[in-house]
Amino acid sequence: MHQIAIIGAGPSGCFTAQALAKLMPGARIDLIDALPVPYGLIRYGVAPDHQGTKAVIRQFERLFERQGVGFFGHVRLGETVTLEALQGLYDAVVLATGLSVDRRLGVKGDDLPGVLGSGAVTRAFNDYPDTAPVAIGEQVVIVGNGNVAADLVRLLAKGAGEFHGSDLSETAARQCSDVRRIDVVGRSPSDQAKFDPVMIRELGRLEQAAIHVHGLSGEGKIVEALQHLEGHDPQDATREIHFHFGWTPEVIEGTDRVTAARFRQGDARLVLPCDTVLTAIGFEGERPAADAEGAIAPGLYATGWLKRGPRGTIPENRADAQNVAARIAADLADVAPGKAGRDGVLALVPGAVHYDHWQRIDAAERADCPEGRVRRKIPTTARMLAIAHQTGES
Ligand SMILES: Cc1cc2nc3c(=O)[nH]c(=O)nc-3n(C[C@H](O)[C@H](O)[C@H](O)COP(=O)(O)OP(=O)(O)OC[C@H]3O[C@@H](n4cnc5c(N)ncnc54)[C@H](O)[C@@H]3O)c2cc1C
Repeated sequence: MHQIAIIGAGPSGCFTAQALAKLMPGARIDLIDALPVPYGLIRYGVAPDHQGTKAVIRQFERLFERQGVGFFGHVRLGETVTLEALQGLYDAVVLATGLSVDRRLGVKGDDLPGVLGSGAVTRAFNDYPDTAPVAIGEQVVIVGNGNVAADLVRLLAKGAGEFHGSDLSETAARQCSDVRRIDVVGRSPSDQAKFDPVMIRELGRLEQAAIHVHGLSGEGKIVEALQHLEGHDPQDATREIHFHFGWTPEVIEGTDRVTAARFRQGDARLVLPCDTVLTAIGFEGERPAADAEGAIAPGLYATGWLKRGPRGTIPENRADAQNVAARIAADLADVAPGKAGRDGVLALVPGAVHYDHWQRIDAAERADCPEGRVRRKIPTTARMLAIAHQTGES
């Protein structure tokens, strides 16, 4: 039996396991993740009020519950185990560890207190384990014109009553309760903004935020969606959102904390007073040199954001995962099985969190759910491990 390890149980890792299980029904597949819980950014990136997007988890559950795929959580590649050790145990190792470091603005002042990356903020709003709350003030500038920026606008602009059916925690809700004004600034003209028009139209349902769109130009679906928002002004508005297009960040002003963000467009300047700047301009990190089918070296592969860069939605990782799985199946056709695989890794990481342990965490989160929410995520690794291993400690 061939033994395959996939490092990273986010969507790319899970899609790869799915494709491999289909192509190589006789193989034994293990998903290994640094966190005690599976599903990567589905759990800790996708917005807490977009539970429909998180529903893809249900198809991944089948991997563990029906297809014999193993889960080894709380096992960090490079700390708990080395790549060499895993390569010794498995016929193929697939790296699906994503990219999570916020790209910096690269202008003076981008390291001032009050300047926060979207990854850090969305992790805090999603109760990523052991994450300190972020301090969001009253006047927020969001730099970026993609869907992560749209998520941030919506989460910051919603009132407490608008999170019904979400898994936003009380701690996370408190972090955005002071917001009064949000300026969203993009470098491109409005017709080239990267927002999904559906997400822009969704802002037209905000119950407490008045919306103003400045500098609209061109045509197309995104411009139409933005036009539809202009003038949205609910009776009880407590917040304002302003969209600006075609402005390039020049400097973040402030001494002890950010006080304003300055942008330029030719000779013109836009100065936005603020106490918080959120950058939603993408992610970075070291990426291995993989070919189009994900091969890095014999027996070693990459997939997902780690392979392609930090772009694309959850479904966009599927085709890539299928390609990589096809390459692995072809490569292993010439390799005789015989490695220790799961039995070896079980001995190597005795404290790992397995799928049935994760189900205990999942059940505890659903059981302790506040009124109107779908779960209350456990915010610390220690507590997750205590529940997973039923040690009673926290
Ligand atoms: C804030 C945000 C919101 C998003 N919202 C949406 C949305 O609404 N809809 C949508 O379709 N797409 C959304 N996306 C995009 C989507 O999340 C990505 O396409 C997808 O998650 C990429 O999958 P991945 O498996 O490559 O990476 P990830 O989801 O990041 O998974 C990587 C996994 O690897 C693990 N890992 C990392 N390092 C190690 C290590 N050293 N050892 C072991 N494990 C490790 C991580 O814990 C994680 O579980 C969003 C992205 C972000 C950042």
